[in-house]
Amino acid sequence: MLKLYNTLTHRKQAFKPISDSRVGMYACGITAYYLAHIGNLRKYVNDDVLRRILQHRGYAVEHVQNITDVGHLASDADEGEDKLRLEADKEHKSMRDIAAFYTNIFLKDFRLINILPPSRMPKASENVEEMLDLIRKLDEKGYLYKTEDGVYFDTSKFKDYGRLTGMGFRQLNESLKAGARVELIKGKRNITDFAVWRLATSHMTEMVWGSPWGKGYPGWHIECSAMSMKYLGKHYDIHTGGVDHIQVHHTNEIAQSEAATGEKVVNYWFHGEFLIVADQKMSKSLRNIYTLQDIIEKGYPPLALRLFYLSGHYRQQLNFTLEALTNAANTLRGTHLFMQRLNEVKSTAKNEDSSEFRKRIAAHKKAFFKALDDDINMPHALAELHAIISVTNSREAEGKLNKSEARSVTRTMLELDEILGLDFDKYANAKKEPLAVEVEKLIQEREDARKAKDFQRADEIRRILKETYHIVLEDTRDGVKWRVE
Ligand SMILES: [Zn+2]
Repeated sequence: MLKLYNTLTHRKQAFKPISDSRVGMYACGITAYYLAHIGNLRKYVNDDVLRRILQHRGYAVEHVQNITDVGHLASDADEGEDKLRLEADKEHKSMRDIAAFYTNIFLKDFRLINILPPSRMPKASENVEEMLDLIRKLDEKGYLYKTEDGVYFDTSKFKDYGRLTGMGFRQLNESLKAGARVELIKGKRNITDFAVWRLATSHMTEMVWGSPWGKGYPGWHIECSAMSMKYLGKHYDIHTGGVDHIQVHHTNEIAQSEAATGEKVVNYWFHGEFLIVADQKMSKSLRNIYTLQDIIEKGYPPLALRLFYLSGHYRQQLNFTLEALTNAANTLRGTHLFMQRLNEVKSTAKNEDSSEFRKRIAAHKKAFFKALDDDINMPHALAELHAIISVTNSREAEGKLNKSEARSVTRTMLELDEILGLDFDKYANAKKEPLAVEVEKLIQEREDARKAKDFQRADEIRRILKETYHIVLEDTRDGVKWRVE
């Protein structure tokens, strides 16, 4: 049984979808005005893993992830100017061009780290009619009021406002007041009130629409409410996002959606933690922001970043260092080499203890999925993956591993990779392996060094093989043998 931590109830809960066969999942998507950094990408890998787990359990997942191309203001607390409008002015381009340009880069990054494409990616600017319908409903029910700059939602009128944060309306307002950082915008009745519609100023020509309240554009929160309910219905299973969206964005989504329909909108709220860099928050001033492109330029394969993300639990902060990424790259290479070596097993000898070996592999596989069922305990699941590799390596070292056993391990590894997304399949049936060639070359070089009595170089190569490739050499009477550890 899959258990997930639900931010709404503040505890782990058994996951039970509304329908037996289908899961509706809405993910707050990108605001397309900047290059994604590795902190952003972590969130999408968290979502991707959740989706793969659900699919592995046999559910058809309807995964909707929006693209925000208008309405997201410079501060998530609903102040300042539209992020895309600012960027368009700065780059002297249209908002549409800015959105298209950055969306393409995001999608390329997603592909490079094996994030499955969402079932739908609706754009905010193409769903404004639905947003206006929702605003109309809220207006009819008396939740809205108008100010000089827009139409606001009165959060004091929504029962249970702030449920997701564990605080009520009053407590939340008081804590924000105490935090002095937030000033009350002119005309706003409560600090927590937010705009569902913003009025355009006279110089705005792009991304503005007519409405009963005047020409303007939608607020960021109403976009997600309207698009999620349009594609998944007014009551659906899962909504995902980063922890930074709990207090404002998601709290406001719940208020709008539920005020409009009178129904509970989402059953499970799934939130992922931040990525930090060398124990510090990523920020421009610290110059510690990395994009996927930066990582690639430093010579790391994109999937090393994916494996690095998987090394931490999604609800815990993850500390990024180049050293940790190097470790992930080495481990990734080790798993790929392992997949290749399984292909090379030729022995057809019958082993009496074959079923015992298979049982051990099956037990680790079971433990892998059991760990994932426990609120996606990926670090534990990865330990089970390494146990499979190590048990198999030991058997090979004993000279026992036969072809049929190797095939069965391959199948198990491929099944685990349905969740991990680390391209094991690309190495499972490869005839000639480029990685193995590289390793063979190093082994030959070590042999030559030994013959020339250059033991220092020979030892150095042994160390490189162990640290970089996880390969352990054994000098036997039949020559050098190697295995992946
Ligand atoms: Zn959202």
